Amino acid sequence: MRRFYPMAGLYVHIPFCKTRCVYCGFYSTTMLDMASSYLDALYTELELRKDYLCNHLEPIETVYIGGGTPSILGIHHLEKLITAIHSYCHHVSDSVGESGLVKEFTVECNPEDISKDFVDALKAMGVNRISMGVQTFDDKRLRFLNRRHSALTAQKAIDTILNGGIDNLSVDLMYGFPNQTMHEWDTDILTLLRFPVKHVSAYMLHYEEDTLLWKMLQQNKVSELGDAVCAQMYYQLKDRLEASGFLQYEISNFSKERYRSRHNSSYWEGVPYIGIGAAAHSYNIESRQWNVDNLHSYMEALSQGNRLFFDTEPLTKKDRYNEMVMLRLRTVKGLSMQMLDSEFGEPFVSYCTEQASKYLQSRHLELHDGMLRLTRKALVISDMVIRDLFML
Ligand code: SF4
Repeated sequence: MRRFYPMAGLYVHIPFCKTRCVYCGFYSTTMLDMASSYLDALYTELELRKDYLCNHLEPIETVYIGGGTPSILGIHHLEKLITAIHSYCHHVSDSVGESGLVKEFTVECNPEDISKDFVDALKAMGVNRISMGVQTFDDKRLRFLNRRHSALTAQKAIDTILNGGIDNLSVDLMYGFPNQTMHEWDTDILTLLRFPVKHVSAYMLHYEEDTLLWKMLQQNKVSELGDAVCAQMYYQLKDRLEASGFLQYEISNFSKERYRSRHNSSYWEGVPYIGIGAAAHSYNIESRQWNVDNLHSYMEALSQGNRLFFDTEPLTKKDRYNEMVMLRLRTVKGLSMQMLDSEFGEPFVSYCTEQASKYLQSRHLELHDGMLRLTRKALVISDMVIRDLFML
């Protein structure tokens, strides 16, 4: 039976960056001269896929422009893009008789692109949330990461955004750098807490294959920080943020009351979304689609107005079970056994309970009021625990 959700999300991918960060495994390019033609392709895709969500009766309530670095597009390009996005959202909403109001509109920005005029322009365009990659307030490490901003630029950008009236600011931090000490990490956390930001996402530095950082590791130019120190850093962050009034709502995400990311929460709750742009993914419960992760192929297909720029994978019941387990267990709310039962039936509930039993015994999982959750000590080994609940 088809479920109807009250909302859906639209993701738009801007795959351009001025320089590449050493750790980055996202799809992005430094060929900025292609930005204008790429945006034309985006407008064509928006037009071509006007009915993707309409067919499923979902009004769009959240929009997220991510990358890459959307803020390097500048005000002129962003204005045109955001106008096209609003028109798409209205089209979808009109077709289901909804108001067409986007409740959360996020743009990812880098600190060096932030100015008062830029923030004013975003606000005037209906953007009410900014997600900014600060990563660290340590200049030496920012240079190591090949980020383009300094610690001072990041701090000024935070002030400019908050003073400019966009109070829903999310800051990304990273931890687990080679040779990083607990004291250095704590200094980053405390520096951030001097600002009244409402949302923090924190990620451990990963050595993704084929990144520059990974090559440095292979050549013994850097060494990984041990798991025990990284775990200590994670708990230090959690404890500091919670003591400052933040609520954890997902393994890597913390927010003040009412400032959770609605868009990302929708992913974790299995709400349908459409992803526009090279390498963007879409999901409509029955299937998953992913756009080609090559700028030239993407633009060529769109310039010919054809629909051969994405692949589709129908989702089996087992796929959907694995997805629900993976996404829900990442959240503090957890996985509802009742929902598991109504979506997939008793055999899936029994399988999940059986797989979970050793972690319930070891207290890495807890089951309260029908909700299965990771316990505090499992948060740093969540991937392993969650994987063990998958159906292979
Ligand atoms: S700015 Fe973001 S997307 Fe671009 S290279 Fe750095 S981490 Fe990757």
